[in-house]
Amino acid sequence: MKFTRLRVHGFKSFVEGTDFLIEPGLTGVVGPNGCGKSNLVEALRWVMGESSYKNMRASGMDDVIFSGSGNRPARNTAEVTLVVDNAERKAPAAFNDADILEVTRRIEREAGSVYKINGKDVRARDVQLLFADASTGARSPAMVGQGRIGELIAAKPQARRAVLEEAAGISGLYSRRNEAEMR
Ligand code: ATP
Ligand code: MG
Repeated sequence: MKFTRLRVHGFKSFVEGTDFLIEPGLTGVVGPNGCGKSNLVEALRWVMGESSYKNMRASGMDDVIFSGSGNRPARNTAEVTLVVDNAERKAPAAFNDADILEVTRRIEREAGSVYKINGKDVRARDVQLLFADASTGARSPAMVGQGRIGELIAAKPQARRAVLEEAAGISGLYSRRNEAEMR
């Protein structure tokens, strides 16, 4: 699953709409302290369905919305879109008829988040499963945050196993099984 574009609008320090083209190969993001490098990675995790505001260095999910600076007023919405190349047809059946998937998450102050895939309303779960099946996603080992390696070494065997399951792309299956058993 290849990410080809990331569009960020009103998310954290990205007040204006910003469109990042992700070319094949290695992409580096460089810039001075506080310019928004970590915010960019958080935007990526957020659009893939991150549900913990603590993992977004926030004290509530509304904190991801641009909160104003200098002469720029705060915004009431934030939106992130991740464009995914689905040419290899790795997406779950419901979304697998398209070559390109545009996954959007939008949040409005005090109204929570909504998700869309190619313009169609979907659940947070649909987005989380889409990325879990591809062994990526907000909590996956594909995203190695600061301090994560040390955490993994110190983790209990069960927690470490969960990381291996994510890496193997089977955590989506467990999640579906649990859902089926609850019905
Ligand atoms: P470093 O090199 O120190 O790791 P960085 O490039 O990773 O820096 P970030 O942590 O991504 O920088 O960005 C921090 C900036 O984002 C701060 O200036 C902070 O005020 C701003 N910021 C975070 N949340 C918001 C928000 N909701 N609204 C406006 N600005 C925000
Ligand atoms: Mg940083």
